[in-house]
Order: sequence, then C-alpha cells, then structure tokens
Amino acid sequence: MKLPFAESWKIKMVEPLRMSTREEREQWIKEADYNLFQLKSDQVYIDCLTDSGTGAMSDRQWAAMMMGDESYAGSASFFQLKDTITKITGFEYVIPTHQGRAAENVLFSHLVTAGAIVPGNSHFDTTKGHIESRKAFAVDCTVDEAKDTQLEVPFKGNVDPKKLEKVLAENADKVPFIIVTITNNTAGGQPVSMQNLREVRAIADKYGKRVIFDSARFVENSYFIRTREEGYADKSIKEICKEMFSYADGMTMSSKKDGLVNMGGFIATRHEDWYEGAKKFCIPFEGFLTYGGMNGRDMAALAVGLDENTELETIETRIRQVQYLAAKLDEYGIPYQRPVGGHAIFVDADRVLDQVPKEEFPAQTLAIELYIEAGVRGCEIGYILADRDPVTRENRFGGLDLLRLCIARRVYTNNHMDVIAAALKNVYDRRHEITRGVKIVWETELMRHFTVKLERL
Ligand SMILES: *Cc1c(COP(=O)(O)O)cnc(C)c1O
Repeated sequence: MKLPFAESWKIKMVEPLRMSTREEREQWIKEADYNLFQLKSDQVYIDCLTDSGTGAMSDRQWAAMMMGDESYAGSASFFQLKDTITKITGFEYVIPTHQGRAAENVLFSHLVTAGAIVPGNSHFDTTKGHIESRKAFAVDCTVDEAKDTQLEVPFKGNVDPKKLEKVLAENADKVPFIIVTITNNTAGGQPVSMQNLREVRAIADKYGKRVIFDSARFVENSYFIRTREEGYADKSIKEICKEMFSYADGMTMSSKKDGLVNMGGFIATRHEDWYEGAKKFCIPFEGFLTYGGMNGRDMAALAVGLDENTELETIETRIRQVQYLAAKLDEYGIPYQRPVGGHAIFVDADRVLDQVPKEEFPAQTLAIELYIEAGVRGCEIGYILADRDPVTRENRFGGLDLLRLCIARRVYTNNHMDVIAAALKNVYDRRHEITRGVKIVWETELMRHFTVKLERL
C-alpha cells in the first residue's frame, strides 16, 4: 500500500482552542456589528482571516531567537539574514524593514515620482497604495484568464506579455520599473511561470528597464513551478528560487508570509545605485541599516525561516494542506476560484448565495453564516472591500464577490480543514433558505471593510 502524505513536522508546543456555542457566536457577531474584523480572537475557533504573520515558528527558529544579536550597528543577526537572502536570491544588497509595505515605502521613495507608470501583474493593495500616493499609476497587465474563476490553467498569475509590451511601447520613458507579484495574491494566490518571468525579463531588457519581484509568497510560487512547469520536477526549491530571482533586479518582501515569521520585511537588490538610494529613506523611516525596524532576534528567526521554507518538505506540507481543503470542497460541489492557489481558498459567494442580491453583500453574508455555523473566521474580498466609486459614491459591483479562507502556515491540522469544509457544506446545503444579506449602517470613505458596521436584513 502506498503510504499517505503527512506533515513534515511533529508538534512540540500546543495552544488550546475553545469551541463556542452557536448562541454565543450569534451574540458576539451581533456585538461586532457583523464585521469579522471586530471579533476578539478568543471568539474564533479556526481563524482563516489571513496568512500574514499568523504562522508557527519551528524549534530551530525559536532557538535562533535566543541567539539574536541586539547590537544597534553591525548586528551578527543582520549578517546571518543577509547571507541567507543572498544565498537564496543572488542579491548582494539587503535592507531589513519592519514589514512588506515598509519595504515598498523605502524603495519606492527612491524610485517612484509623480506621473510614473508601474506596470506588472495585479499589484497588491499596499503596493498600489504606495504607487498611487506618489501620484503615479499602477497598470495591471495580468492575463485575462485570471478573471474567470472556473477556468483551470496552471499559471493564472502570469503577466500578459502583449499588455506589458503595449505599456512600454507607449510610455517607456515614464516607467521606473516593472513589478511582478509572486504569487499573484490579488488573482487568488495564483502562480507565475518561469517562462513568463523570462518573457518579462526579455521585454524589460528590450526597453532598458529593471524588474522588481513583490516576493511575499515566492516559495509557494517556486513549488508551483516545480509541480506544474516542464523541466523543473527534479530541481530543488532553492535552485528554482535562484533561477526566478535571476530574472529580477531586486525584490520587496513581506516576511510575514513565506519568511515564516510573525513580523518583518526586507528589500534586496543586485544594484548598488538602488541600495544607495533606498538607504537614504531606510534610516529616517525604519532605522539604521543593520536592523531597519527589526529586532536582532527577529532577523535571526527570519534567516532560519527563509532557509527552512525553501526546503521541499516544508513548502510541500503547506501547499498540500491548502489542496486538501480544496479537494473537500470539490467533493461537496462548493464553487471556488480554480485551480486553488498557494495560501487560501476563495469561495465564489455570488454562486453559493445566489438568492442574496448584490446590494445585500453575498460574500459578507456567507462569512457571517460560516462564523455562526462553526466559529470559522474568513474574510470578504468583494463588494464591501471594493469601497464606493470616488466620483458617483455608488457601491462597486463590477468585480468578484469572494469569501477568502486563508490557511496559516503550520498552525492547523487536516482535522481542522475537515471542520472548515463541513461547516461550509452545512451552509451550502441550506443556501436556498438564505435570501437576505446585510445592509451598511456606518462606513468610512476608504478601506471601509475594517470598521464597517452592518445590520442583518
Ligand atoms: C502582504 C503583502 C504585502 C505587504 O506586506 P505587509 O508585511 O503586510 O506590509 C505586499 N505584497 C504582497 C503580495 C503581500 O502579500
């Protein structure tokens, strides 16, 4: 008999979870104005709100923390981190920052000026924010396939080379760099192929431009290249990472994702001029160059986390758990964005709660139902998140209305995945009884989803 796949770790420390009653959850979610961001974490049984900074560290990472060097300048932990990053990416220059958006802030302060155009695949919201706040423009050149949730293609996160080439042909002088997000978070954690990274490099070279990878989930991306792209099945994850980064000039990183730590980020590049430019902003914004907003012990843990996550067993355990949950949803016929990506499942709420009108926010309604059903906290990536049109002040119903269920790294077991799937199935089975959603009673102008107050209809 073929042995089943199992986690590449065993558990040394546990944190108790408490299952609440349905009556308690009904009360709590009402007190939270039906906004899952307003729940307290002890009111949640399984937390799928985000995979950012929610992972569990290994015994090696905790051991490294005890060895952290808290020197203001020249910290040994910084050099451990820098050496690890250089080994994995080939980038010689490294600037630590307190998280990913801080890396964007520091590097873009040097590179992005008013009127600039920054093309790429889908820009993450903080990336877009750091471009637009400088009165520059983020142009999304993702392949059209990404818009169809049911289409099964292996690299739905790719940049469309024709769209990219068009931006450069028309506006090359305004483009400071191209940015490729690996994996493409906004398109559902969808990977970008090596072939596509090569094509982007070739277009960049043709126009004399540089390329940045927004690398929060670069290890997940390399796992998908290994399992889906011809010629990579026998390569190690570290070899694949090295090749991916060989097509880039630099990277910004949110270490809260594939760095396997709870807080942190960095910039890395092969170009001294970018390093010199970013240095000037690191010191006032983040701190001195050998800590940049991080504790010595946290840099030490990150160095180990990066090394550990770029080993096949670690990343395979992670992705296979997400795929395990997706297979359960397939079994129950619950529609989600296909094929499942690396860090989350995006349930197509419009298709599940097809009786709930758009104006009553189906994905938010599904998130509330799932929480009441089993204490599972997901996150609406849909019409509430989309905010209102800045000119007409109308809600924006043009995009997708999804319930995102993120899987924290090394935190839950597959039994928890079974609970999530069963809870969703129970809601799915009574979907025709759910005909009304929620209405907004209070909201802010921008990023309303964090604080919006809702009432059930
Ligand atoms: C999380 C994330 C960021 C921002 O990083 P923070 O650490 O949350 O500041 C940027 N880009 C991508 C793709 C991300 O997933």
